[in-house]
Amino acid sequence: MNIGILALQGAFIEHKHKLDFLKVNSFYIRNKNDLLKNKTGLIMPGGESTAMYKLLVELDMFDELKNQIENGLPVFGTCAGLILLANEVTGQDHGFLKVMDVKVTRNAYGRQLSSFITHDLFNTIKVPMTFIRAPYIESVGKDVEILSIVNEKIVAARQHNILGTAFHPELTKDLTIHKYFIDMIKNKK
Ligand code: GLN
Repeated sequence: MNIGILALQGAFIEHKHKLDFLKVNSFYIRNKNDLLKNKTGLIMPGGESTAMYKLLVELDMFDELKNQIENGLPVFGTCAGLILLANEVTGQDHGFLKVMDVKVTRNAYGRQLSSFITHDLFNTIKVPMTFIRAPYIESVGKDVEILSIVNEKIVAARQHNILGTAFHPELTKDLTIHKYFIDMIKNKK
């Protein structure tokens, strides 16, 4: 197993620490050459989705990344990463990569609650969840499995090879979500 971590912007180091801790090989993806390297999965970190999108386009990585995901590469997007994966983004004419059949709303918790930590269920396990100017998932298509709902909002979901969380599991000590992603890769058909 060897997981690429998109490292153009945002909270990528924390994902590397998690994978190191789990003894899973990983490498940073900073340019198109890195993106073309063999990998069994990809993590797209939190940060600022618009900035990450611009860098992906400037560095000529956008189409290649979309292709790889559409061809079945297991991918895990956190926060801004989830926004980049979504088919639709509220208030924008179009989504970014448009590979996941979800509609997301950015900065969805208002200014008062823009960052908070809570504990809630992911699938069947209670985990800590750190939200930082987070989105939530407004609606999902029929192929999308909902994995977490917090305060009546969907905050984690999976569609086949694609996993997205609105919160940042890399910022807590909990390993549940990274382990779930690694199992997704292991069980890939
Ligand atoms: N607010 C950011 C965006 O809209 C996402 C925040 C995050 O990744 N923590 O892209």
